[in-house]
Amino acid sequence: MLRLPKFRYLQPKSVAEAVKMMADAGPEAMYVAGGTDLYPNMKRRQQTPKIVIGLAQLQHLRTIKGKPKEGMALGAGLTLTEVTEDRRIQRAYPIVATATELISTPLLRNMGSIGGNLLLDTRCNYYDQNYEWRKAIHFCMKKDGDICWVAPSSPRCWAVQSSDCAPVMVAIGAQVKLVSTSGERLIPAAELYNDDGIHHLNKRPDELLTEIHLPPTNGWRATYWKLRRRGSFDFPVLGVAACLRMAKDGMVEDAKIILGGVGSHPVEATASEKAIIGKKLTEDTIREAAAPAYPTAKPLDNTDFAMSWRKDMARYYVAGTLRELAGLPASLPRQGSGNSSSDRSVLSD
Ligand SMILES: Cc1cc2nc3c(=O)[nH]c(=O)nc-3n(C[C@H](O)[C@H](O)[C@H](O)COP(=O)(O)OP(=O)(O)OC[C@H]3O[C@@H](n4cnc5c(N)ncnc54)[C@H](O)[C@@H]3O)c2cc1C
Ligand code: SF4
Repeated sequence: MLRLPKFRYLQPKSVAEAVKMMADAGPEAMYVAGGTDLYPNMKRRQQTPKIVIGLAQLQHLRTIKGKPKEGMALGAGLTLTEVTEDRRIQRAYPIVATATELISTPLLRNMGSIGGNLLLDTRCNYYDQNYEWRKAIHFCMKKDGDICWVAPSSPRCWAVQSSDCAPVMVAIGAQVKLVSTSGERLIPAAELYNDDGIHHLNKRPDELLTEIHLPPTNGWRATYWKLRRRGSFDFPVLGVAACLRMAKDGMVEDAKIILGGVGSHPVEATASEKAIIGKKLTEDTIREAAAPAYPTAKPLDNTDFAMSWRKDMARYYVAGTLRELAGLPASLPRQGSGNSSSDRSVLSD
């Protein structure tokens, strides 16, 4: 059985006290919300804080504020279940409720927070192993070693951004509020992420994520599709979040298509977006938009499934999301788990 290492646990009663504790503790400390990512990582000695600052008691982080027409703010400490089951979110931001509902299992969703999900550590088959396993291969550059086993000549780490909510928040243009003793800043969710498996967050370790600001619901439509092996449990090996603004005549005025699980950050499928902006969504334009998702997705051989199949699936999933938003029948299941030939019919003539 893997055991947690010894650490000191601090329990602040307010956001101000939490950021003060973090400033006092310095780089030895980390925040914890639900602990469903941090504690397993600590058991495997991937992350080794000496001080852990618990956020579970901070009611300030558990609120939902605002109105859909003006935009809403989700407290970062809301559990995934609370977000999934909130009627306002289900009605106004179904893409958010869909993504949170697709994460892991009911028990983990009762513990895991939406903030912790956005700040999830990047994942890799060579890293998400216990200490002895990693030691046996002389570790890797993400923790304790100096080589990347996925791309041995690479100077960087290619661990995968595996959060379901990250591509969704980037696609809909959400913003995140970061607070520290030196002040607070509100940045676009897209700016939170770096294309680097080690330094994957543009957030200082002392910054507390307090709120996620969802944009006003003024006419955009969005959906999220997730690919994983087991529909009840697994991390995404591909996620596609598509957000479109369409004119009354069905013309696409603006589009954001973001791929998750195929890089160290949420990847914008810009060529796919360009292929539909200024056009109506038809079988032809959807096919044109789906094709460039194949070169855009660059998965490596460090998560589940063969990387060539995951890369291929990117275009079927982009097509699937666009077909859904266009109101066309989709023959590929939202959570595709197989590779049967019938999955291919999303792009068929
Ligand atoms: C078996 C299993 C299956 C899973 N499946 C999925 C899945 O399908 N999809 C998915 O996206 N995730 C999955 N997860 C990961 C995880 O459960 C979720 O991402 C969850 O939402 C993480 O939230 P948490 O509150 O538990 O994070 P924590 O473990 O508490 O924290 C995660 C990270 O965020 C930091 N942090 C947390 N909150 C804050 C804050 N407010 N401000 C600053 N830093 C903060 C912590 O320091 C830590 O680095 C799975 C986990 C397990 C164990
Ligand atoms: S991508 Fe390479 S460096 Fe990064 S965690 Fe995997 S093996 Fe380690």
